Amino acid sequence: MGKKQEALITVNEAVKKILGSVSRLGPETVPLLEANGRILFEDIVSDVNIPPFDNSAMDGFAVRYEDTIGATSSAPVSLRIEGEVQAGGALPQMTVAENRAVRIMTGAPIPAGANAVIPVEMIEEDPGGGTISVSRVMKRNENVRFSGEDIKQDQVVLAQGKKLQSADIGLLAALNRSTVKVFRKPRVGIITTGDELVELGEDLVPGKIRNSNAYALCVEVAKYNGIPVYLGIAKDTVENIRSMFAGAMEYDVVISTGGVSMGKYDFVKDVISDLGVTILIEKLKMKPGKPMTFGTRNRTLFFGLPGNPVSSLVSFMEFVRPALLLMSGAKDIRKPELYALLDNAIHKIPGRKEYIRGIFYSKSGEPHVTTTGPQGSGLLRSMSMANCLIVMPEESEGCRAGDRVIIQLIHHEEIE
Ligand code: AMP
Ligand code: MG
Repeated sequence: MGKKQEALITVNEAVKKILGSVSRLGPETVPLLEANGRILFEDIVSDVNIPPFDNSAMDGFAVRYEDTIGATSSAPVSLRIEGEVQAGGALPQMTVAENRAVRIMTGAPIPAGANAVIPVEMIEEDPGGGTISVSRVMKRNENVRFSGEDIKQDQVVLAQGKKLQSADIGLLAALNRSTVKVFRKPRVGIITTGDELVELGEDLVPGKIRNSNAYALCVEVAKYNGIPVYLGIAKDTVENIRSMFAGAMEYDVVISTGGVSMGKYDFVKDVISDLGVTILIEKLKMKPGKPMTFGTRNRTLFFGLPGNPVSSLVSFMEFVRPALLLMSGAKDIRKPELYALLDNAIHKIPGRKEYIRGIFYSKSGEPHVTTTGPQGSGLLRSMSMANCLIVMPEESEGCRAGDRVIIQLIHHEEIE
């Protein structure tokens, strides 16, 4: 198959094309505890007020704040203790009368008549006399938590597209939801290509290297709610590549690595094109990750990522990650970016967007970043050392030490 020089497109153009090809998946219902990290398919509307009744924020005494007016440490006010309300007991029947105080526990319902709670730490109790002395003026509603203060009945508490985290699971439990509708997980077939690859446990005879890409990518896929299905190594023959891809047409997403460069045995693009995949991207103004094939067939997305271990991971992060997120319903798919001060110079020639592996840290509250050293796209360990990518725009001519640069955190749990 002949090789021709294709047009290079920018990273942004590529992201646009990819996201424009994504169809959202449907819903599935999961038990509450399995919903963590999943993306909500339904709007969650509360059918109750939370808290359900006015209650005390402190252990102390429920009083009428008016009775504390004028209280000081030199002229305390004395209130008679009359009754007690516990958390979890029946709603109190008593009414707090003038110059009376009802002992109350945190979370217990506020008795009628009371409009403030004096914390137990703020009073002196006279056990013999059955009174408390108050040496401070209370404010109206001080330490009272109102019904519906957290959540109001009919309020949309969680909206479709929200990635569920611990507090959200707590909210759902508070609303008595034992199951929840989330977006289905995309099934992602992963194919690696290359005659040089051997699997874990096989003999590493001269000329071979071990397949590492499949494993790193399985982890990335799972991180974004995908179900990774590793399909194995394809040899660098048209027949073998064709049969592997032909068997993967029903996945939501197919990711391959290798076989998309200018080499004589790089057949992936031509083979998938023959199988009916419409190719939308062939090459990018990007480093690492210049060769990347992207195409679609029906609703399936095909990502032919480059073979170099760092290139395949960076390409995944920039292109597959947002596609998986959008597909599974996420609203916010931007990668969190922040500024950091660069410790060492970066050389660059304009033309391609570069992603430099970096180590982000904070010094006296100031974000800093150091590069991991040599940036060869086969140096997987430099990716393992990195906790961020320094993003150098296409037009950048490099940076000096002390410059402010944009970084993307790579192991940050985003809404991602
Ligand atoms: P390719 O894109 O097929 O030309 O591969 C580029 C480089 O990445 C070559 O040095 C390959 O040996 C290496 N490579 C390809 N696939 C893998 C893999 N699955 N694991 C580790 N390295 C790989
Ligand atoms: Mg190859």
